[in-house]
Amino acid sequence: KTSIGGISRERIAMLRDTEAEVFRKARPKSEAKAGNGLPGFFGGVPMHWMNDWPTPFPILVDSARGATITDIDGNRLDDFCLGDTGSMFGHSPPPVARAIRRQSGRGLTYMLPSEDALAIGPLLQQRFGLPFWQIATTATDANRFALRVARAVTGREKILVFNGCYHGSVDETMVRLVDGKPVNRPGLAGEFRDLTRATKIVEFNDVAALEAALADRDVACVITEPVLTNSCMVLPEPGFHDALRRLTRAAGTLLLIDETHTISTGPGGYTKKHGLEPDLFVLGKPVAGGVPASVWGLSDEIASRYAAYNRTKEPGYSGMGTTLSANPLQFATMRAALEQVMTEAAYARMDRLARRLDAGLTAVIDRCRLPWHVARVGARVEFICAPGPLRNGGEAEAAHAPELEAAIHVALVNQGVLIAPFHNMMLISPATTAAQVNRLITAFAAVAARLAA
Ligand code: PMP
Repeated sequence: KTSIGGISRERIAMLRDTEAEVFRKARPKSEAKAGNGLPGFFGGVPMHWMNDWPTPFPILVDSARGATITDIDGNRLDDFCLGDTGSMFGHSPPPVARAIRRQSGRGLTYMLPSEDALAIGPLLQQRFGLPFWQIATTATDANRFALRVARAVTGREKILVFNGCYHGSVDETMVRLVDGKPVNRPGLAGEFRDLTRATKIVEFNDVAALEAALADRDVACVITEPVLTNSCMVLPEPGFHDALRRLTRAAGTLLLIDETHTISTGPGGYTKKHGLEPDLFVLGKPVAGGVPASVWGLSDEIASRYAAYNRTKEPGYSGMGTTLSANPLQFATMRAALEQVMTEAAYARMDRLARRLDAGLTAVIDRCRLPWHVARVGARVEFICAPGPLRNGGEAEAAHAPELEAAIHVALVNQGVLIAPFHNMMLISPATTAAQVNRLITAFAAVAARLAA
């Protein structure tokens, strides 16, 4: 292909090379310290995906506050990545920072509840509508544990995922459709099992395929995000969620809704806003304002079935754990986040600015006549360098344009704007200002004009 996303390869390479140079010049201290990797780390980074940022070397952060990140060279960035959702309520939200200070002298982990825990159960019940909850530390773990319960209570081995999904590093979800055939997700390290043996996979929005896959009544659980946010952004077609719920119920299959990213929709997530009725519910990342924590909830029915299962099963290790989970720092910060940060007022503001961003980017795309589009779920906005809307993960994969996107990302950074790596996601936090949104639209317009010229 000579062009990607409607842009010639030559032009993309030019943008990439020019912008890499600009990035370097603005960061002499960072380059001296980290340009050849951080000492002592495998691959030069403390977490392997830090090497996947499209910048010539990772941005070495000095501090972050609200929706602004400052690097050690003193460059200030308007942060729309927000730790890919971990900080979607802004960096160090003041009530969360106060909770950390308050708890910091009272112990950090006990394996026992604190008084804050008394407040959290009812807060979760009220907000998300499910009656029973557990705390874990990552969304990955919350999903793993919820899937375990699903298998336990149904006595079924299989799960079903939608093509293009991501639910954290949950082994059994690592399946993809390649040329219409289920395979282990390409790139998995050290995987020795054929995951397709126990994981069925169909395309999102494909009701007929879903119905067929559930017909054998051997699927314990469908796990999905309400909107696929990890393969560009794929919105559910009208009626899809109704069909999903109807078909899963008819097949005796549970429905796990993973709200980790779609909590951008509102204080009760997409589930509350759109009246979804999950059996199991997962939320991680920002639920404690940036302190590692996650929650998972069970419906009344699943809770009673799991209690009954526990009465009959052999005593012993449940397969759900992690020692640091449900610690007092998590309770303190989660309480602060739920009570004082994830408020209706905060969401109203986030939504307003996200609409402005959506409209601004769309106007630029139209003006430059680019074959691109913008998708949004509440405070989460994504521009996609292909026509839309996308209907499923397969289409999203075809729309994804890594080379082009990487060049755009660095060009945005050089204009003081940081968006999420690996795709084109932008989050609006309660701390994000209209001026920051305007700067992002202006920066995007400048890059688009250069590409389209
Ligand atoms: N669920 C969804 C929808 C996610 O996008 C992610 C991470 N991107 C996870 C779960 C896993 O979160 P964590 O990496 O914090 O475990």
